[in-house]
Amino acid sequence: MSRPASVPAPLRALITASAADSWYVETARPAPPPTPPLDGSARCDVVVVGGGITGCSAALELAERGLSVRLLEARRVGFAASGRNGGQVHSGFGGGMSHAERHLPPADVARVRALGTAAVHLLEARLARHRIACDYQPSGTLLLAVNPGHRRGLTALAEEMDRHGPAGHTLWEAEEARARGVNSRRVLGALHDPLGGHLQPLDYTRGLARAAVEAGAVLHEDCPMLGFESAPSGPGRPAVTVHTPDGRLDADWLLLCGNAELWGQVPSLARATLPAGSAILATEPLGPLAKELMPGDHAVADMRRILSYFRLSPDGRMLFGGRAARAEVRHPAVAARLRQTMIDYFPQLAEARISHVWGGNVALTGDRFPEFGRLGPRVLFAHGYSGHGVALAGLAGDLLGEAVAGDATDFELLARLPHPRLPAWATPALPAIRATRPGVIALAVLWLGLRDRLG
Ligand SMILES: Cc1cc2nc3c(=O)[nH]c(=O)nc-3n(C[C@H](O)[C@H](O)[C@H](O)COP(=O)(O)OP(=O)(O)OC[C@H]3O[C@@H](n4cnc5c(N)ncnc54)[C@H](O)[C@@H]3O)c2cc1C
Repeated sequence: MSRPASVPAPLRALITASAADSWYVETARPAPPPTPPLDGSARCDVVVVGGGITGCSAALELAERGLSVRLLEARRVGFAASGRNGGQVHSGFGGGMSHAERHLPPADVARVRALGTAAVHLLEARLARHRIACDYQPSGTLLLAVNPGHRRGLTALAEEMDRHGPAGHTLWEAEEARARGVNSRRVLGALHDPLGGHLQPLDYTRGLARAAVEAGAVLHEDCPMLGFESAPSGPGRPAVTVHTPDGRLDADWLLLCGNAELWGQVPSLARATLPAGSAILATEPLGPLAKELMPGDHAVADMRRILSYFRLSPDGRMLFGGRAARAEVRHPAVAARLRQTMIDYFPQLAEARISHVWGGNVALTGDRFPEFGRLGPRVLFAHGYSGHGVALAGLAGDLLGEAVAGDATDFELLARLPHPRLPAWATPALPAIRATRPGVIALAVLWLGLRDRLG
């Protein structure tokens, strides 16, 4: 792993990124004024914890159904993964469908796949219905093969999509993939899915929050949940009580939508999920070169285990993301590694200046399917979208809302999917585990990177 001193001075000059905020924060539409934290006690139907895509979607869904909703966000809406991600809108699930095929009967597999597609349609419908301006570009997604093994993997994936959908995907040979998608000699083929595309994720998340508030939800920012109690509800007795620094909420339901940020506080949520650091760099606008490099303006990811993902911004920057093994994602060495991977794809960018670098935690499950579940009869959670949360977290909010409203069919279907689980002692509840977990994760990343290099 490179040390700070190993980043050569000329490269430091190219990386002009300050350690300030993401390109999204700088270019987002004006943020609404902060909402006040909870002060005192109140009663409501549902408390939603987490102002990311999951929580804002759930709050929107519930408020539109006429329930009284309080949405608690520890910092500001979109502070975490939802406001920092690559903005890539993918249909389906990170690991394909084979895990679901192993554990569910065919009719359920078909429903799960349909949900993966519905997630994108739901996102598009919400953008239109709530007039959320977030530069959505419905250009579809590309999955790239960059070694011969990937090429076989793409064919298998295309066959899987033939079986389960979505329809309309096409397999591109190297020449077509370079001409229509990513103009790089590294590209050996691509799978094009016309669904989805890319958007500005911070604007999107704030738009969902605005829609939830317009529908009647009460948003409290700078208002962390400190803890909760749940008990069987009874006459005059709430099912859950949620504590914040200056207040308390009694409610019938609690939805935990804090994703990777909540695991330290609720360790049982960390049994099936691991946080993986991911960072993104933005170049300065590239002018006409941008469209030469990416003529189709797709949202792109490659098939490596330590994958790269990239796309263009509306003003012609390359937004290039990948794994960040360091806890501090804005470390110059992280930017240097990302930049090198970008240049491996696009040697023309060797002199491009890097204006921003940022990142966050992606919540991964072992099988890349999100984890849905209950911590009590009326305490539900959803997380672990494994890099597909821009679309799936919106769907999860919808399913959480439906479950509260009385139809838990799809929620329970996804909750039935088993995930590889860590033993209880390996969750971050124990200080020793908290301290060693990053090291274990870094070793796993080194191992996966080695396998990528071996092909
Ligand atoms: C760098 C990066 C790139 C990514 N790229 C993509 C991509 O291109 N496409 C894609 O589909 N997915 C991508 N993802 C994943 C995607 O961003 C997430 O799956 C999705 O945003 C998860 O949304 P969420 O609402 O569940 O969680 P989050 O966005 O993490 O929101 C959780 C919120 O809960 C709040 N919270 C936590 N604890 C508490 C508490 N105790 N009290 C109150 N509030 C609390 C946090 O402050 C946070 O705002 C990426 C993620 C990262 C980090």
